[in-house]
Amino acid sequence: MKKIVVAMDLGGTNMRFAAVLRDGRIVASHRRSTPRTDTASVVSSIISGFSKVLDLSKTRTPLAVAAAVPTTSSTLSGVLSKLPNLPALDDFGLGDVLRGEFLAPVLVVNDATSATIGENWLGASTGAKNVIGFTLGTGVGGGLIIDGRPHTGANGSAGELGHICVEPSGPPCGCGSNGCLEQYVSGTAIVRMAKDAGLKVTTSKDVFELARAGNEHAIEVFGIAGRAFGVVLSGLVNTLNPDKIVIGGGVSKAWQFLRPSVLSEVKARAFEIPASHVTIVRAKLGDRAGVLGAARIAYLNSAGMES
Ligand SMILES: [Zn+2]
Repeated sequence: MKKIVVAMDLGGTNMRFAAVLRDGRIVASHRRSTPRTDTASVVSSIISGFSKVLDLSKTRTPLAVAAAVPTTSSTLSGVLSKLPNLPALDDFGLGDVLRGEFLAPVLVVNDATSATIGENWLGASTGAKNVIGFTLGTGVGGGLIIDGRPHTGANGSAGELGHICVEPSGPPCGCGSNGCLEQYVSGTAIVRMAKDAGLKVTTSKDVFELARAGNEHAIEVFGIAGRAFGVVLSGLVNTLNPDKIVIGGGVSKAWQFLRPSVLSEVKARAFEIPASHVTIVRAKLGDRAGVLGAARIAYLNSAGMES
């Protein structure tokens, strides 16, 4: 019988589940909306989703259960914390609950780190050993691969690239600081800046459509976002000397409008050797990156336990 890892990518709006083989093939998948209510509803929906994808893949006992979660603190214990888009799961011990339910090893990992690993396994950064990944969505997530390994830091909380400060007196951020990158290049920030510029928009896609139609205020919003992003990327390029920077998430669809100011900031600020080495590319796997990356980490963790 084939060994299978079942993986979840838990978002504030949707949860995606997949049964993934060791070579990355997805043999079953399932998606459902995330209940925005109490803890019990969210947890029971998570368990139902995993059960459904196990049924679909005709697997009774998975090799591992892997959960990619938008948690911003230690994931080593499987206890979640600081989930601005999923407050119902704050301080919840998801790892223990899944272990009890499925009697299998459980991995809980940051969602942006998972996406970065997924893209490195089968997407935009295959073969690269030093990679920085960004997910530009409602917030800004980040993931790091250093010398071929995910870098999660001393407590598992590393990679919060969206909370690098760009402007000390900038807009307040959900993390408690001010002027974080997330306040300039997230979907939420794009909408805020567009409204400040007098545009009537409700989503970052609206701003993108206006930019595509040639609206100069909308184009300038992406210019401001791209400058902030380029400032942060310059610092990361100087610090980490990456091979690739991979940009994913909904806002990355507007890359054509972000790109000019991102590249000019990196050219102006970063050291020449790392800046001329790095390539900045868009992600390839779309919303499969998170489940694939979580499954990949589970397979790597299990490699020592079997032949
Ligand atoms: Zn912040």
